[in-house]
Amino acid sequence: MMSLDGKIIIVTGGSRGIGEAIVRILCAGGARVYATYNSGADKAAGIVSEVSDAGGIVEFKQLDVTNVEDVMQFVEGVAKDAGRIDGLVNNAGITRDGLIMRMSAKDWADVLTTNLGGAFNFCKSVSRQMMSQRYGRIVNIGSIVGLSGNAGQVNYSASKAGLVGLTKSLAKELASRNVLVNCVAPGYVETDMTGKLNEEQKQTYSHSIPLKRIASANEIAKVVAFLLSDDASYITGQVINVDGGLAM
Ligand code: NAP
Repeated sequence: MMSLDGKIIIVTGGSRGIGEAIVRILCAGGARVYATYNSGADKAAGIVSEVSDAGGIVEFKQLDVTNVEDVMQFVEGVAKDAGRIDGLVNNAGITRDGLIMRMSAKDWADVLTTNLGGAFNFCKSVSRQMMSQRYGRIVNIGSIVGLSGNAGQVNYSASKAGLVGLTKSLAKELASRNVLVNCVAPGYVETDMTGKLNEEQKQTYSHSIPLKRIASANEIAKVVAFLLSDDASYITGQVINVDGGLAM
């Protein structure tokens, strides 16, 4: 039986969608979670109250993952408060879709800075602590479009492809210290991010998925929880597609 009992885990972008599902599943498994949100203070407060009613432990802090100083201070605060950091989930992410001819330099930079730069900021900040305790698990939330590409998403798919390189390089750097680094690459998941799609688009996407449906956020969260558990002690540098067979 997978156990996360007492594990100290940071989750970025835990206020909605996949991040929220990850926070809830980790807390239900006994982890003590330090989560961040960017703008969703009310959502975060609601999750804290529901999780603590169910006997779980989660704290939320407002934080922009692109702010290097704030990320360092947050991570140092967690290490001081909890005494260690067992896991990190780099989940926070944004889209600014558009065909390249119409994509502004700002939309390119915002997506790269948030999705890839944010993960770099957190990986760098937790690495010293994880190396010194000779234990750590990092899970980066990528996307299958980082592997397959997607018209209208050169910025987003480049950021997610970058996460694959970051994951594999960091896995090699930290393996000797028992710090495992992996990437979970979801396909289409029912969240606010895909809520922008209309019914017809959703039907078209579902049709192209071998399992013929879009995933729930919980189906992604369960794989993330496994990678953070002691049962996943011999997996590092991997990209695990959770996509209903879409990227076969
Ligand atoms: P979502 O519902 O849009 O939620 C995004 C989360 O990221 C929110 O908690 C948001 O915080 C946070 N966030 C955004 N920018 C941030 C920043 N600068 N600093 C800190 N936090 C920030 O997204 P989702 O669909 O759950 O996606 C979660 C992850 O899965 C993303 O990395 C996404 O690329 C990836 N993914 C999603 C799908 C999908 O189909 N949904 C597929 C593949 C991969 P606030 O709400 O507080 O602003």
